[in-house]
Amino acid sequence: MTAARSVYFSFLSHHGRAVSQPLPLPALHASHAGTWLRDANGATRGCSKGEAVMAAADTPQLLMNAPLVASRLGYPDLSGLDLLELFAFVYPARFCVPTPKGLAHALGLEEPADDAAVPLLLQRAAGALVATCESDDWAEREGAWSTLQSLARLRWPWAGVLAPHVSRPERAEKWLFTRLPEWEETAERPQPAQVLIDEPEIEAQLERLTGEGAERREGQRLFSRDAGHVFGPRDRRKRPHVLLAQAGTGIGKTLGYLAPASLWAERSGGTVWVSTYTKNLQRQLRRESRSAWPAARADGSPPVVVRKGRENYLCLLNLEDALQGGFAGRPAILAHLVARWAAYSQDGDMIGGDLPGWLGTLFRKRGIAALTDQRGECVYAGCPHYRKCFIERSARNAAQADLVIANHALVMVNAARGRDPASRPTRIVFDEGHHVFDAADSTFSAALTGQEAIELRRWIVGPEKNSRGRRRGLTARLADVASYDDAGGEAVEDAVVAAQALPSDGWLGRLAENAPLGPLEHLLAAVRATTFARDESGLEMGYGIETETAQLPGELVEAAGTAAQALAAIRTPLLKLAGRLEAIVEDAPDWLDGQGRARIEGARHSLAWRIDLIAAWEALLSRLGGPADPEFIDWLQVDRNDSREFDVGIYRHWLDPMKPFAKVVLEPAHGVMLTSATLTDRDETGPDWPHAITKSGAPHLELAPKTAEAQSPFDYAGRAEVLIVTDIRKGDIPALAGAYARLIEASDGGVLGLFTAIRRMRAVYGRIADRLARAGLPLYAQHVDPIDTGTLTDIFRDDPRASLLGTDALRDGVDVPGRSLRCVVMESVPWPRPTILHRARRAAAAEQEGGAKRYDDRIIRARLAQAFGRLIRTREDAGHFVVLSPAFPSRLLSAFPEGTPVTRLTLEEALQRVANGVVSADLSTAETLPQ
Ligand code: SF4
Repeated sequence: MTAARSVYFSFLSHHGRAVSQPLPLPALHASHAGTWLRDANGATRGCSKGEAVMAAADTPQLLMNAPLVASRLGYPDLSGLDLLELFAFVYPARFCVPTPKGLAHALGLEEPADDAAVPLLLQRAAGALVATCESDDWAEREGAWSTLQSLARLRWPWAGVLAPHVSRPERAEKWLFTRLPEWEETAERPQPAQVLIDEPEIEAQLERLTGEGAERREGQRLFSRDAGHVFGPRDRRKRPHVLLAQAGTGIGKTLGYLAPASLWAERSGGTVWVSTYTKNLQRQLRRESRSAWPAARADGSPPVVVRKGRENYLCLLNLEDALQGGFAGRPAILAHLVARWAAYSQDGDMIGGDLPGWLGTLFRKRGIAALTDQRGECVYAGCPHYRKCFIERSARNAAQADLVIANHALVMVNAARGRDPASRPTRIVFDEGHHVFDAADSTFSAALTGQEAIELRRWIVGPEKNSRGRRRGLTARLADVASYDDAGGEAVEDAVVAAQALPSDGWLGRLAENAPLGPLEHLLAAVRATTFARDESGLEMGYGIETETAQLPGELVEAAGTAAQALAAIRTPLLKLAGRLEAIVEDAPDWLDGQGRARIEGARHSLAWRIDLIAAWEALLSRLGGPADPEFIDWLQVDRNDSREFDVGIYRHWLDPMKPFAKVVLEPAHGVMLTSATLTDRDETGPDWPHAITKSGAPHLELAPKTAEAQSPFDYAGRAEVLIVTDIRKGDIPALAGAYARLIEASDGGVLGLFTAIRRMRAVYGRIADRLARAGLPLYAQHVDPIDTGTLTDIFRDDPRASLLGTDALRDGVDVPGRSLRCVVMESVPWPRPTILHRARRAAAAEQEGGAKRYDDRIIRARLAQAFGRLIRTREDAGHFVVLSPAFPSRLLSAFPEGTPVTRLTLEEALQRVANGVVSADLSTAETLPQ
C-alpha cells in the first residue's frame, strides 16, 4: 500500500481545503447490459465478464455493491474496494440509495449518463469521500481514527487508502460505550385523566395540524370527528369504544386521527398507541406527528416514540462481544462499521431505522441479526451497558410518551405479555387495519418446530461447543442467584439437564438420515416422515409441504407423548426457578440492590414467556391422535426453500384469531380504532360492513362497534385504468416473460410487477433482465438481487426508468408516489394458496352466507384492492393496473374503486394504452363498475 499512498496525497489540500479529485484506482462496473473497466488514470472500456473477474482478482477494483456485481458477473467470490462500505464509514447513519445514481445524489456529484460513465463516477465518489475525511467540517469525524486502526488490523481493503487522510485526533477518542448517553429513570405516569373532547375542538386542532390556509377537506373533518369517539371515557369494564373507519386513499386519515389523539394525550396525560403494518407508514407518522408535537419536551424527553420489537435494535453487549473477538473476518469489519453507526444513530434501530438496509447484505452473513437480541438473552441490569441500552431507552421513552408508533404484532405481544402492565396500550389506533386479522393469526399461533426448540435449548443450556461469542445459558446468567439460593441453583441445574432432550446442532441432517437423537428429534423425524408420506401438493415444486393432523400413525402419536413428557420435565424446574426468583425479590437479601432487582425482574419475565411457550407446546402435543378441537387448526409441515429443508414442525392456529385478540387487546382497552382504505370487502352490492365487524373481533365481546366511511377524493375515473389482458395463457412462461418485457418497454420503466410464486418471478426475471438493461431500463427483483426489500423499494423510487418485480411484501409495503410507479402488472388473479389453514377456514365459511366461494372472493378482492392501491398515492398520480388473466371473473371487479374504467383486451392493445399514458386513454370500451 505504501506505493499507492503517495498517489492519494497528490490530489489533496488545495487552498487549505480538501479538493475532491477522482481517486486514481481502477474501477469496475457490471450491469445486465454489460461490463466496464476503467484504468487508474486511463479510459473506460467495455469488457467481457471473464476479463472483469481477472482484473478484480489481480488488483482491488473500485466497485459498488460487491454482492450485486458478483451476481452480475456470476463470480461469487468477488471482492474489492466497495464504495458502499466507504460511504458507511464516512457517513454513518446517513441515507444513500445504493446505486451509482443514488451515490451521486448523496455526494452532490453529477449523475452518470449511462453504464459506461459509472466507473468514472466511482473514482469521483471515492475521491469525494476521501476528501471529506480531510475536511474540517466532517461532522462524523469523532471516532473515525480509532475505528480505522481496528479496521486496518482486520485488513479492511479501504484502511490503507484512508489511513493518510484520517488524522489522529489530539485527544484520545472516547469509546462508543462511554460516548452514548445514559437514560434516566423516571416516575411512573399516573393514570390518564378522564376527559371528553368535543367536536369543535377536534376540528380546530385538525385545522392547526393541517396548517393555516390548507384546503378544508370535508371527508377528513368527518373522519377526525368520528375518530374522537374512541377517546371518550369508558362506561363499563371490558366495554371499550370501538370504531371501524374506512377512509379512502388521500383523505388525510393520519392527521385525521392524530388531531383527537394529540388533544386527548395533552389533556389526559395518557399515551395513545398507533399501530401500523408497514415501516413506510411508521416513517410517515413520525413525520406527520411533528405538526402536533415538538421533537422534545422542555425536559428533553421525546413526546413521540417509535417502538419496535427488541430484535430490531442493536444490543450493545453483543456488539462489544463482536468487537472483542466474537466475530472474525468480514463479520468483524461489519461490527466496526455498525459501532461507528451506533454512535450517530438516532435510536439504535437496525431494521428499517437509520442503519442503511444494504449494509448487512454487503457482508452476506447473518451479521446484523447476531448483533441484535434475537433470542431474548438480555441480562438486563446485569449488563454493563444497561443504562445506555437502546432497547431499554426506547421502552422507557415509550412509557412516558404521548404517542407511541408501533406495529400490530408488537401491540398484540405487549398487550398479551408486556413487562410492565402499566405501559400496556389502552387507547389504540390500528392503521392499515385490514392487516389486523393476519397479525393476530400469527401472534396467537403456536409452532413446535426444530428451529424454535433449538433456540429454547440454547437459551437454557447455552451454545454448543465451537460457537464463538458470549452467548451463555441460564447457569451463567443466574450464577449469583444459584450461589445464594440452593433451591434456585438446583432448579437451574435440573432445567439444563432436562433441556438435553431438545434438538441440538445438526438435527436437520440427522432427521434426513433417519438418525434422530433424543425425544424431540424423534418426534420431528416422525413428523417429517408422515408429511412426506402424505403430501400430494408440491413435492416436485421445492417449496414447503404440509399435512393435517388427522389419522396420524401410531409411532407419531407415541413420539408426541414422549416428547410432551420431556417438555414437562423442562417446564417443572423452570417453574420452580420462577418461584425462587419471586421469593428472592420479595424477601430481598442485602446484596440485592436496585440493579440486581431489575435483572431478576427481567429474568422472571423471560422465564414466564418460556414457561408459557413450553405449556403451549405440551397442549399442542396432547391433542395429537385425539379428537380435533373445532377452535383450532393443527397441521404438520416441512419448510423448504429450493428443495433445501430448513425447518420441520407442528403448527396450531386459531380458527378465528380475533377471539384471543378480543380477549387480550380489546377487552382491557378503553378505546380502539381500526382504520384502512380497504377495511370492508366490496361486492356488487357495496361495502360489506357486517363482515368487517365480525373480522374486528368485537362480536366476541358482544360489542357493536361504530362504523364510519369517507370516500377517496381521487379522480380514479380520469387517472387510472384497469386493463385485463386476455391472451396470455396461464402457465406459458415465455409468453408471460414477453408480456412483462413489452409492458415495461411500453411504459418506459416505472412498472411494479407482482407475482404469486417466487419461482415464476425468477423465471421471468431471468428471461428479460438483460434485454431491458440494454434498453436502459433497469430491472430489480426480490429474492433474486442480493438486496433487502426496503432498499429495493428505495432504488425503484429513485429511478423513474427502473422496474421492480416482487411478491406479497411488495403488494402491501410499496409507497411510491409520483412518476416512479406508473404501472402495476399482476401475473394473474391472486387466488389464495390452498393450504390446510385456508381450507379449514374456507370450510367454516361454507356454512355462512355466500359460502366458501364468497370467502375466496373476499381474499382475492382484498389483494386486488391492495395492489391497486400502490398505483395512485397522490392526486397527481396516474397509471395503469394490468392483470394478465384470460378469465377474470366480473364479480371481482368491485375490488377497484368506484368509477375506475376496466377494459378487457389483447396484449397488443394493452401495450398501446400503456404507451399512450392513462390520461389520454380512450375509455369508451370500458366496463362500468358498480356504483
Ligand atoms: S441490556 Fe440487554 S439488550 Fe441491552 S445491551 Fe445489555 S444485554 Fe443487550
